[in-house]
Amino acid sequence: MPWYRKLHWQILIGLLLGLLFGLLAAAQGWSGFVTRWVAPFGTIFINLLKLIAVPLVLASLIVGVTSLSDLKRLSRIGGKTIAIYIATTAVAITIGLVIVNVLRPGHTVPPEMRTRLQEAYEADVEARAELAEQTRQRGPLQVLVDIVPENVFSAASDNRNMLQVVFIALFAGIGLLLIPADKARPVIAFFDGVNALVIQLVELIMRIAPIGVFALLADTITSIARDNLQQVFELLAALGYYSLAVVLGLVIHTLGTYPLLLKLLARVPLKTFFSGIAPAQLVAFSTSSSGATLPVTMECAEKNLGVSEEVSSFVLPLGATINMDGTALYQAVAAVFIAQTLGLGLDLGAQLTILLTAVLASIGTAAVPSAGIVMLVIILESVGVPSAGIALILGVDRILDMCRTVTNVTGDLTVATIVAATEGQLALPVPETKSAS
Ligand code: ASP
Repeated sequence: MPWYRKLHWQILIGLLLGLLFGLLAAAQGWSGFVTRWVAPFGTIFINLLKLIAVPLVLASLIVGVTSLSDLKRLSRIGGKTIAIYIATTAVAITIGLVIVNVLRPGHTVPPEMRTRLQEAYEADVEARAELAEQTRQRGPLQVLVDIVPENVFSAASDNRNMLQVVFIALFAGIGLLLIPADKARPVIAFFDGVNALVIQLVELIMRIAPIGVFALLADTITSIARDNLQQVFELLAALGYYSLAVVLGLVIHTLGTYPLLLKLLARVPLKTFFSGIAPAQLVAFSTSSSGATLPVTMECAEKNLGVSEEVSSFVLPLGATINMDGTALYQAVAAVFIAQTLGLGLDLGAQLTILLTAVLASIGTAAVPSAGIVMLVIILESVGVPSAGIALILGVDRILDMCRTVTNVTGDLTVATIVAATEGQLALPVPETKSAS
């Protein structure tokens, strides 16, 4: 097949064209046109992906749990998955902390820029601080209470409640393993059918991915720039060092930690891995949502990497919901950057608090755009840094959100590949060329 017929090249071309068109539109003052005539195609694409997210998580997790056939296997694979998820998140945060302490980006923001940023984003900060306050006021065990829904339909009615949907699916899956096989069989067969249907729908949706990605990128650029491209460049210049620190950390984790783990624990050729997951990474970058990307993530894992359905349908929906290495790394860099900018020192104890809170916060972060910044407020408060400080970084947040979502999705796929390899459930496709790696 010629290279340009391959999906990931088509998506990449859509992404680059969207970027160029967005810049041109912002420079020419066409943002009204983009909002009215281009952005809706991006919204349709992202809505289609979100539309199938809840049925996908529900069906695939139920099928995933029941195909593990007994509770002992479930707890072994589940335990292994969660342990690797938490360990990789802790590594990500450590990388973030080392980088921000070495580069010290907070010492480069000029005082007048600091005041300007704080004034410009005052209103936005209030809204986010209020959300964080609601989260914080609810007592330490509220996180657990939130996972257990009181109604199936209300849990499934909002994609932000994905953790509740994960709970329902795991609970139902365990129940199905315990009831007599003749009663369980038709229920499992039903969800198996739903699963196959959703996978077919993903294939249909992906046909318009290049157009969707084009529209999303063009819209993102024009809504950041709002016909004033100059302002974006100014912001990037002031916060360039900070953004660089975040992106550097993400690159080290994505191209260092994951390949190392894949080589050591799964012995997967990196070329096969990264070319196989490219569509998921590109969709993650364009949508800023690991939840919306989940259908594509699962398709890449099963079709391009040969991860068994049993593993992918258990590990990936769970990962999209609780495993966010990119978000955690970004939260660590951002928290220390804000403290540095405001002239507040953070000792080792405070940095360890950041490590712990960021692990928990990344689990609680919803897999949707900008969710990470709300949880950042909680991290800031845990170390006594005023949350109004997030005004400093809001301007470049969307761009960094796109980057950290790529790391989040790559992390899920890495863990799925490792779990599959260690369970003897990885059937890597034979590469097109003679040998890979
Ligand atoms: N947008 C991220 C995700 O969906 C979450 C965040 O960091 O805001 O993975």
